[in-house]
Amino acid sequence: MERRYNFNAGPSALPLDVLDHAQSELLSYQQLGMSIMEFSHRSKEYQKIHDGANELLRELLHIPDDYEVLFLQGGASLQFSMIPMNFLSPEQQANYIITGSWSQKALKEAEKVGNTYVGGSSKDLHFRRIPNFETLKYSNTDAYVHLTSNNTIHGTQWKTFPDRPQSTFIADMSSDILSRTLPINQFGLIYAGAQKNLGPAGVTVVILKKDMLKNIPDRLPTMLDYRTHVDKQSLYNTPPSFAIYMLSLVLEWTKNKGGISAIEELNKDKTKILYNTIDGSKGFYSGTAEEESRSSMNVTFNLPSEELEALFLKEAEEEGFIGLKGHRSIGGCRASIYNAVPIESVKALSDFMHTFHHKHNI
Ligand SMILES: *Cc1c(COP(=O)(O)O)cnc(C)c1O
Repeated sequence: MERRYNFNAGPSALPLDVLDHAQSELLSYQQLGMSIMEFSHRSKEYQKIHDGANELLRELLHIPDDYEVLFLQGGASLQFSMIPMNFLSPEQQANYIITGSWSQKALKEAEKVGNTYVGGSSKDLHFRRIPNFETLKYSNTDAYVHLTSNNTIHGTQWKTFPDRPQSTFIADMSSDILSRTLPINQFGLIYAGAQKNLGPAGVTVVILKKDMLKNIPDRLPTMLDYRTHVDKQSLYNTPPSFAIYMLSLVLEWTKNKGGISAIEELNKDKTKILYNTIDGSKGFYSGTAEEESRSSMNVTFNLPSEELEALFLKEAEEEGFIGLKGHRSIGGCRASIYNAVPIESVKALSDFMHTFHHKHNI
């Protein structure tokens, strides 16, 4: 069997060990004669996986006891709507920091629910960087401050977060959760679709401070009210049981690798290889993000011309490199190097980039 070098932005690479494990018990989970997909979500077997995933995520990310961990559906995109519906009251305004396409989408949904404003933006800089903290604006009537920790499309990332206890920060961490240690207690809510760093598509993780539940309005649809999912431990309705099972395997794999700090070191090594390749190419490859805002998950770059980019993508694909085309909204190239992408894939890509450069040097 030949596996490709998978640099997809999402859904993306899963650890081979996890896929192997899932395959080994696909037909008969723990010799019980059924796939885990065929169990009732009320069975003790499923409950164990569900609770295990919750506990392991808490352990790996050091989530304090005054936070809830939820497994929801609807992707990060449904969180764009649920957040203002639950937390933005008519007397308040929601503060959005705009660092790329996903934060713009989040803002658009909040605008449909209540009052919003933009407390900071790097749009004028073509989203090539994260704004300086000193330039961010806040107001006393902020319901919350929303940010996107890693900008999957533009390849930028917040390296640290504003430490401002009087504000409630909410972060979309879809594309970098579990990639590094996190100051959870600086956030009221963190959310992430699983399909980048946590598992397959179909489950969305929400980490929510308990005191956020105090002022939720009473007339929300049941499924859109965070209290429903807190009360029923994410089992109000049928959860995406297979996706949560896969999440639990990815979390176990992460723990076996040495946990978040070990993963973070490995990610640093991977990131360094690619950015060094870009920076060492004397301008043949140019990184799209400003250096201090560069993402450790999505490495975005250009070649000297669109023709060369097209040729690069074509030859890369022939060599087994998948998913290197930049997002359709901005073009260029992007290598997504999430936790599950092995360093060997990154080294192979770097070698390919060198070879391509020498072949087409102008
Ligand atoms: C992929 C992504 C989303 C969208 O996630 P869905 O699960 O498809 O709704 C939102 N935000 C960020 C930062 C992403 O990378």
